[in-house]
Amino acid sequence: MKSYLIGAFLLAAAPALAQQPAAPMRSVDPQVAALRDAALKDDIAWDIVEGLTTEVGQRLAGTEAEARGRDWAIRKLRALGFANVHVEPFDMPTWIRGPESAEILAPFPQRLVVAALGNSASTPPEGITGEVVGFDSLADLQAAPDSVVRGKIVFVSHAMQRTQDGSGYGFFGGPRRQGPTVASRKGAIAIVIRSIGTDYHRNPHTGVMTFAEGVKPIPAGALTLPDAEQLQRILSRGQPVTMRLTLVSTTGRGRSGNVIAEVPGRDPRLPPILVGGHLDSWDQGTGAIDDAAGIAIVTAAAKRIMNARQPLRTIRVVWFGAEEPGLFGGFAYQKAHNEPHYAMAESDFGAGRVWRVNSKLGKDREPEGRALQAALAPLGIVPGKLDQADGSDIGPMIGAGAPGVELSQDGTHYFDLHHTPDDTLDKIDREDLRQNVAAWTAMLAVLSGGIQTEPKRPRRR
Ligand SMILES: [Zn+2]
Repeated sequence: MKSYLIGAFLLAAAPALAQQPAAPMRSVDPQVAALRDAALKDDIAWDIVEGLTTEVGQRLAGTEAEARGRDWAIRKLRALGFANVHVEPFDMPTWIRGPESAEILAPFPQRLVVAALGNSASTPPEGITGEVVGFDSLADLQAAPDSVVRGKIVFVSHAMQRTQDGSGYGFFGGPRRQGPTVASRKGAIAIVIRSIGTDYHRNPHTGVMTFAEGVKPIPAGALTLPDAEQLQRILSRGQPVTMRLTLVSTTGRGRSGNVIAEVPGRDPRLPPILVGGHLDSWDQGTGAIDDAAGIAIVTAAAKRIMNARQPLRTIRVVWFGAEEPGLFGGFAYQKAHNEPHYAMAESDFGAGRVWRVNSKLGKDREPEGRALQAALAPLGIVPGKLDQADGSDIGPMIGAGAPGVELSQDGTHYFDLHHTPDDTLDKIDREDLRQNVAAWTAMLAVLSGGIQTEPKRPRRR
């Protein structure tokens, strides 16, 4: 009740706060507004995400499925009229899932639903059997004496909750990212974690993990949330719990690649604007929200600019390969294109609506960041920071100083589906997808030049 009263007081005080002068919003160029608003009827993005997920399906990095995805991409991007459509290939280590199961043998025999984490060591085909020792958090596992863990199958839980900005993934993702290394160092024979996810369906969430240098790889899997809580209840009865865990996988080397396409600018000497997403996906669903939606959104926006006018600066669309196993495509691009970029941005957080714009264009280009804020506000997008931007494949390049823009998507439901068999086309809302395309179109219209920041030039006939 008390907090309710405080809330009511703040609400009453809000009109007074609202009278504080806000930073003036710039007026938006009518051409930018028209391109943005027309994109609210976009069908190009749906066409791409529907086509890729239907005609190719899952696209596990370094496999023939991802290669079929690249062939599909080349055909699609050429058909859409992009220039310089090509693949920049690279080699990488592969990890491929085999049969997997988890079974409680005692005290209450039953099967649990599990998926191996990327880079998990393989069990023999008949599995391994051991006693389970459970921990409520990664910190509890870290604090445990080795003697408690040695020779056992470790289970680690966590308390991740849904958030709009997805920040729980970074904070609560430790059991997946570091758990297997910590468990192996303490002598565990395997580890199962509570999936890094927020849904209560029996869909396990996979994802990559990497054993630290010199650490012996052990089998590592994720239980669904209902199965993780079932295991916790079984453990809480206080009797020894025995599990048989089968996580078969194979490793090798494979070929991946970045697919690149351009809308050539009027001045080819100017640094390009990179917009991207990743072509590869995990293998259980069809990679619809992660990340067919992202590449569809950025490609549709670039196509809409191409249809409207020739931008001053080249727009470079990149469908990165092999993001999921460790940003292999992003690093390959960085190595091959060690050159200035005018800006880079990536869509890789599902298909929820854009709710905030962050940018990091440099101190002298903050007016451009404010122009972006003004152009995006009518879509319900709030101004974020002017000195911060991030992305998955492009993260290391932004970290190294490349100017960046970040159109933050609503991630409230993203981790219900992320890296599960449930990442399929039917989860995408067409209107939300269109709002994304409108936001990316407005962003490209502002940054690609010829509007607002450039002197008017005679139109080519
Ligand atoms: Zn992704």
